[in-house]
Amino acid sequence: MTFPAPIDPPARLLMGPGPISAYPSVLRAMSAPLVGQYDPFMTATMTETQELYRQVWATDNDATVLVDGTSRAGIEAAMISLVRPGDRVLVPIFGRFGHLLAEIAERAMAEVHTIEVPWGEVFPVSAVRDAIERVKPHLLALVQGDTSTTMLQPLDEIGELCRANGVLFYTDATASLGGNAFEMDAWGLDAATAGLQKCLGGPSGSAPISLSDAAVEVIRSRTRIEAGIREAGDPTASDFVRSNYFDLGMILDYWGPRRLNHHTEATTMLYGARECARVLLLEGRDAVIDRHRLHGEAMLAGVRGLGLTVFGDVAHKMSNVVAVEIPEGVPGDAARSAMLDDFGIEIGTSFGPLHGRVWRIGTMGYNARTDAVLQTLASLETVLRRFGAPVPAGGGVEAANDVYRAAS
Ligand SMILES: *Cc1c(COP(=O)(O)O)cnc(C)c1O
Repeated sequence: MTFPAPIDPPARLLMGPGPISAYPSVLRAMSAPLVGQYDPFMTATMTETQELYRQVWATDNDATVLVDGTSRAGIEAAMISLVRPGDRVLVPIFGRFGHLLAEIAERAMAEVHTIEVPWGEVFPVSAVRDAIERVKPHLLALVQGDTSTTMLQPLDEIGELCRANGVLFYTDATASLGGNAFEMDAWGLDAATAGLQKCLGGPSGSAPISLSDAAVEVIRSRTRIEAGIREAGDPTASDFVRSNYFDLGMILDYWGPRRLNHHTEATTMLYGARECARVLLLEGRDAVIDRHRLHGEAMLAGVRGLGLTVFGDVAHKMSNVVAVEIPEGVPGDAARSAMLDDFGIEIGTSFGPLHGRVWRIGTMGYNARTDAVLQTLASLETVLRRFGAPVPAGGGVEAANDVYRAAS
């Protein structure tokens, strides 16, 4: 075997449902030198990052930290720390990630109740209300934006419902945060988790999380493994969190003023997560959401301009991703490969009931940009034509440009 060369990835424009191309400044931040775990610079950077993410989440929650790991590390930490074995958890499922929440709740030994709508739809508030009243859950776990279907579940009226029924309200905002409105405190959320590799414009590997005082109270009421189990000598005590890595009580003690040693915070991911939040807040929360809306609308108009049919309830679509039906007779995977091989552009395939039926095209973070949208549409036109689909010449770029002209 020849000795491997230094890493040198091909040039790619990542226009799928995530991961997406990171902001250049995020990659630069991640090449900064390391410092020690308790170096004053390190602890100050952790504190600073907490404050930045409070603004990203629109919350005053003290308990706003990062969980080291991909988005599902945040989900697992929230679920296993907030849910005791036997607790009822209600999961409204409108796509693949709802199934993931149900699966993780199951692993946390919750009594899991689910309701479902067909893929491509979201829940009316009344359906969530009825289920809450019937199930009387300890926790409602609801995805905000499910990338598998591109749908965005409205959350703004659900917090009040939860509060009135004594239910903790958790959302997975991985796909939506930073590209669509999100108001942790105003919407009455108790827990929210995300990842960097969608609208936040970073690599996967860090999971921002925020917890309300009520959520922290539940976590603090769990038996502490040192003080409870060992001292009482009761190995059958059932109330401790069944994970060390994802025990949010311990994670909060590490991020908090006591700085109790837990894991070694992933320094490079911390730098990256900090930069993701910094560039978002520098541009402005509203401006970033507007930018995602504009480029999302341009991409939506563009794919329609190519004669493609958009999947799902477009009125409830996330700004940052669109699913289009693969035209009759076009081999979906071969066309995606042609986009990658000939144009260096990645678009997404799909899961479950949509597998082989739709492609998913994202406009997120750094790639919510005019040139990225127009290049993708122009390349897609060429590829579609090559595989025999009837496409209006220039129809995609023209329709997108109409959106840009109307906005300027
Ligand atoms: C993309 C996505 C994830 C990704 O989870 P990872 O562990 O980072 O792969 C989780 N939840 C939702 C809703 C997503 O869209």
